[in-house]
Amino acid sequence: MVKETLNAEELEPPGTQGGLGELKAKTVIDFSKTTTGKRDVFFQKGSQVPRFRSSTGALFFRKRFFPDANVADWNDWRWQLRHRIRNMDNLGHILQLSEDEWTKEDTCSTKQLPLAITPYFASLIDRGNPQQPLRRTVVPVSAEYVCSPGEAIDPLEEDHHSPVPGLVHRYPDRVLLLVTGFCATYCRYCTRSRLVGNGGSFASSMSQLEKAIAYIESSPSVRDVLISGGDPLTLSDGKLEQLLSRLHRIRHVEFLRIGTKVPVVLPQRITPALTRMLRRYHPLWMSIHFTHPDELTPEAEEACGRLADAGIPLGSQTVLLAGVNDSVETMKELMHGLLRIRVRPYYLYQCDPILGSAHFRTPVEKGIEIIHGLRGHTTGYGVPTYVIDAPGGGGKIPIFPASIVGRDRCDLLLQNYQGRIYRYPDPGGMTASEEPLNVS
Ligand code: SF4
Repeated sequence: MVKETLNAEELEPPGTQGGLGELKAKTVIDFSKTTTGKRDVFFQKGSQVPRFRSSTGALFFRKRFFPDANVADWNDWRWQLRHRIRNMDNLGHILQLSEDEWTKEDTCSTKQLPLAITPYFASLIDRGNPQQPLRRTVVPVSAEYVCSPGEAIDPLEEDHHSPVPGLVHRYPDRVLLLVTGFCATYCRYCTRSRLVGNGGSFASSMSQLEKAIAYIESSPSVRDVLISGGDPLTLSDGKLEQLLSRLHRIRHVEFLRIGTKVPVVLPQRITPALTRMLRRYHPLWMSIHFTHPDELTPEAEEACGRLADAGIPLGSQTVLLAGVNDSVETMKELMHGLLRIRVRPYYLYQCDPILGSAHFRTPVEKGIEIIHGLRGHTTGYGVPTYVIDAPGGGGKIPIFPASIVGRDRCDLLLQNYQGRIYRYPDPGGMTASEEPLNVS
């Protein structure tokens, strides 16, 4: 029997060279005064590129900074990748960079996460405000290069739970399969910043993937494979399908999951051809990395709608970030918005202590306060599970606001979302030795 192997198609996404060659500031529109996220639907005619919604802000941005690009270019995910903003000089043409953004002190020699922002995501950034939440998530600042106590290059010790390169096997019944080190846009707080990007240590190769798949094939306890990276949806349809079909045929693998930020930073990637392909590999789930309500644009809604229409259950994973989403109001707006675009809030992560992350990390009390502010005040579908991924490889540990506040004989004392105490007659609440004596 001939063993099928993945073919040698490129692992990196096609056409990522080219940079900002077409970036030109031609018009004099004050982008800071345009409204992003405002619904303004328009379609291209006679194009091979699928129709896609665009927001008003994206339209102004394209005309100002990419005047040679037409709607079809803008809505072509490969064009978006080819024209990513990849250095501070080019970013300085688009944003009014602050001194702190320009000045980076490299005191953490191991920090090497590159800069890359898709034109689409750049169109959501406020060019005059360095404190704008979305801007803080993707533009490097000097604090990123300061190492603080407790930080580590691999705080979750994923590398110690890696039986073969590119695969993490921490929990008994599931594995994490890293299929690329490439992302459309790099998040400054990325847990895998040691791996991703050109300077990262993740070297994707066919032989490595073959070994990882062989490991899964020989591990009958694995019933769930999370495909991640980097971002798997930056792979071509053909490459992704080869992977999915190989994994789908493993009898003991009951379902597949994809972890991605593409619907947020490169929604144009969610083409009808991609969703047609993905729906062949059910049960397939998807975790999407949303961070802030400003990411809930018509484009992201369109992308998530296409995935949901393909029958893919969508969940969101959000990292709690200081100065970005660390308030009840912001988080509630995000969770409500996610439900409207058919994405179920899944996890809220405490930010991992990677190198140079102190400016992003909030006290754990802040996360508890946010969950307390959501629970009971909105539908349970809108309340994610707040977790700390335990440093040292302990896995995700859920953190809950205190709801059991004590016992009174057989009664459990419970605190509701308003802070009121209620009793529940708990059948197992009292041991025999604790039973009150009958003195009558
Ligand atoms: S998309 Fe995910 S893997 Fe890529 S930089 Fe952001 S957090 Fe890291």
